[in-house]
Parts: sequence; C-alpha cells; structure tokens
Amino acid sequence: MTASELNLIKNPQQQHHARRVAVCRHAQKMGIGALLVTTPVNIFYLSGFSGSNGVLALCANAEATLVTDRRYELHARHETTADHVLLERDALAQAAQVAGNLAAATAHGSQVGFEAEHLTVAQFQQLRGTVSPELLSPTTGIVAEVRRHKDPEEIDTIARACQIAEAALAEVVSDIRIGDQEVQIARQLEFAMLRLGADDKAFATIVAAGAHSAVPHHVPTAAPVQTGDLLKIDFGAKLGHYHSDITRTFVVGRDPDTEQLAIHAAVADAAERARAVVRAGLPAEVPYRVARESLDAVGWAQNFTHGLGHGVGLEIHEAPIMTAVTTSRLVTGDVITVEPGAYFPGRGGVRIEDTLVVTESGARALSSYPRALARVG
Ligand code: ZN
Ligand code: ZN
Repeated sequence: MTASELNLIKNPQQQHHARRVAVCRHAQKMGIGALLVTTPVNIFYLSGFSGSNGVLALCANAEATLVTDRRYELHARHETTADHVLLERDALAQAAQVAGNLAAATAHGSQVGFEAEHLTVAQFQQLRGTVSPELLSPTTGIVAEVRRHKDPEEIDTIARACQIAEAALAEVVSDIRIGDQEVQIARQLEFAMLRLGADDKAFATIVAAGAHSAVPHHVPTAAPVQTGDLLKIDFGAKLGHYHSDITRTFVVGRDPDTEQLAIHAAVADAAERARAVVRAGLPAEVPYRVARESLDAVGWAQNFTHGLGHGVGLEIHEAPIMTAVTTSRLVTGDVITVEPGAYFPGRGGVRIEDTLVVTESGARALSSYPRALARVG
C-alpha cells in the first residue's frame, strides 16, 4: 500500500460493508440472490483487493467471498475486507460455485448475476458449466451506480489529485520555451506530478500545440511549440487509485490575438454556464445542452464535437457520461468533469475542463487553476 492509500481508508471494513449492502440491495430488486463481481476496479471498491486476478461472490446479507490464486495470498490477507478468502487456481469456477450456493440458499432471489460489460464470452461459457444457464442473469452498471455516490474520503482524495495536477501545471508552464516539443512538455508534467506525490498519471497526457489543438484527443508529438500557437493541455494525477482530470489552454510566446480571445471566451462562458446549473437531481444531459446552446449563440455549436463530461473516480471515465443522450440524473457525491471545447480544424482549438463534486444545492469545483487564456513561453 502507498502512503496515499493508507490515508484514504479510515475504516475500510465499515466502508466496504456499506458499499456491499448498497450493491446487494440493487441486485435483490432484480431478483438476483448472488452477484459475481469480476471487474477489478469493482472488486477493489467492494473489498479492497487490488490484485489482477480475482472474483468476488457477493450477497445474502452482503457477505463477500474473494477467490484469487496463490500469487495474491499476501494481498488477499492484508488488503481485503472480504468475509472469506479462497485460494484456487480457477477463481471464476470456484466463485461461481459459491454464488450458486448463496443464490440457492437466500429468499432474495435465485438468479446469479454477472457483470455483462466485463465477462468475456469464454468466461461466460465457463460459467454456464458451473451454474445452470437459466439461473444466470447479465447485469450492467450495478456497482458503477453505487460508485457514483462518493464519500468524503473519496472526494478528498480526488481533490488532492487535482491539487497535485495543478501544482505540476503551474511549475511546468512557467518553464515552457518556444521550440519545446509537445512530448517533452507532457513528460515534464508527468514527472512533476510524481515528484509532488502522485502515484501515477491519470491517463495519457494530451499536449497539443497549434493546429494539433483542434484535435480533441491529440497524442503529443516531437512538434515544437511556436509563437502564436494555442497550447491545449489535458491531464491528471492518479492518487490512491483515484483520478483527476483538468484541461487548460494557453497561448505561446505572445499575447492572444482577437480570434483566440473570442474562442476562449466562448468556451469559458459555456463552461461557466454548465457548471452553474449542475446540482443533484438534474437530468445529466442538461449541462451538456446548456454548454451547447451557449456555443450555439456565437455560431460554434458544430465546433463542440464531444460530450460535456464524465464521472471521475476509480476510473478516469465512469458513470455518469454527460451527453445529449444521457438518461440518468446527477446524484449527490457524483464527481464529474465539465469540459466544453471548440475546435477549428487546421487552426486550433480550446478546451476548458474542471473536475467538480455534485452537491444537493449545486457543485463544488475541485480544480481551481486560473481559467483565463494566459501566455506561456
Ligand atoms: Zn481531460
Ligand atoms: Zn475528461
């Protein structure tokens, strides 16, 4: 365990149990008496186990059995809060047997649920050899929905991941010089985050200069940054298994010109309006529409080519995904990004992204790096 993880978990036993109770309540509403959790990040969330091979069999009084192999014996002993740990070469078959017995013994439902978005076809076929096919129920998003309700410790960890990212950004942009390569800037940012206490980068860092800034998910190249370029930097830190996600756009080597200022102001305005409407209970597509209408008012709706944002937590992209077609509502404890952008192929683009926590009455930004279009280099 890293130091950041020790700070994260104050009473893991209680915390994991409460999460398991919430998951089982959802599962039981669907007639599922036992759930097989195979997604590693969900196993970690519900039991603390961080090994790469394991299956969690869950339910009937939220009791959890972790099945893993001998390589992870120590992990299982020291990390997990599961009620039982079994060491078996074939974790899935053993966990399926446990789940089958749990479902047969409980009055809550006879079905054995499995995570349809994660299980491979080969694993599904294997499962059918252990649990009779009519008892198998595919599920989607049960644990992901519970994960949306971040507790104060999770929010604190994400806030600290944001602070590390922002401190690294301040350090690195003050050092940018004309001619630096995108990829150099990206690596410097990642190294600065590690030096400031991050466990890792949150995802592949995007540094995009000039025309590259018009590509939403540009991969940094050896291209040098040049005077007058827009410079878009989208990055984050990983801390104690949690992520942060921030984008800022700068101008290189001179003050921004009128067009750059106009694009940036339009995106900043869209972002601000979207952040302002966020609150628990709101349909998740509303902030997207607000940002889009804001850009539409200046004729640039068609230059906003992606969704507004996504949940951030144990995964860099998790529920809720905020687009025009999202059907869910925001909930208290959702940590989301708001990241409108406007892209002009061949010329450049601007994105402004912040990580926020959804509250009863609004939202609190966990990232606070100045959003103005600043000059670097
Ligand atoms: Zn981002
Ligand atoms: Zn993002």
